[in-house]
Amino acid sequence: MGYVDAHTHLWFPETLDKEALERVCQIANPELKALKLEKVIQQMDALDIDFVVIMAYPSRRLWGTKEDFPLKVLKHCSASPSRFAVFGGVEPSALSLKETKEALERQYQAGVSGFKIHPPHTWVKPNAYREEEGSLKQLEAIYEFAQDHSLPVTIHTGTSAFPQARNKFGDPIFVDDVAVDFPRLKILIAHMGRPNWVSTAFQLVRIRANIYAELSGIPPKKLLEYVPRVEEISSKALYGSDYGSPGVKGIEQIKDFLSLPIDEHAKREIACLTPKRLIKTLDRG
Ligand SMILES: [Zn+2]
Repeated sequence: MGYVDAHTHLWFPETLDKEALERVCQIANPELKALKLEKVIQQMDALDIDFVVIMAYPSRRLWGTKEDFPLKVLKHCSASPSRFAVFGGVEPSALSLKETKEALERQYQAGVSGFKIHPPHTWVKPNAYREEEGSLKQLEAIYEFAQDHSLPVTIHTGTSAFPQARNKFGDPIFVDDVAVDFPRLKILIAHMGRPNWVSTAFQLVRIRANIYAELSGIPPKKLLEYVPRVEEISSKALYGSDYGSPGVKGIEQIKDFLSLPIDEHAKREIACLTPKRLIKTLDRG
């Protein structure tokens, strides 16, 4: 059984319009311009990666992408449905409640594997649906839909260096409300609140049954510095490269993770067993 990379930004040029592609290449990673599906699959084969998860959430502010972006990514990857999972999303402050529900249904029908919430890029707290946080019903609709359809939700935590990002929204403590209000929802805390909120994220993973640690965005070589007790939570942790983000060299980064001096079974849980338990590929396999 091969590995899983649970967090990438493998945004193929065919899935972005010209302007969005320019922006992504300029701000995030210029290599994306030359990205080819067949090449990625060859690389996955060489690394023994069974499937990768592509984060395809819309961000009007950063890239100018909207709710049809995940549909384009799904279509592009549908040629190899067992090798990809696509997390879609809705920008909750940009659509009406009715539009939000329609977009979720469209993405679900197209085969989406989960949803991604990016608080610093969309300027919305993960718990903004609550009355004391502004009653954003569109956000509640996303969590309800995901819970009802057994789809996991990845929530970005920690800082983002892009100029349009607002980092106050990156505190993982706001995810606690989501875990309590949606007890059947599987919540993946991306980046473990790095660099400055790792202890909050770690504690939430320990005390909330439905919160999982998604380790992308922390360079594997620094993982034990950031999360020294990672073996304690290995049955609830997932490996991800965050490839496509600035500074990540590629999906081959998994080799750095596999060479860490931690228990071999813990590694297997993090890079294979836990992600396979939580995330289905496009063929829903
Ligand atoms: Zn990311």
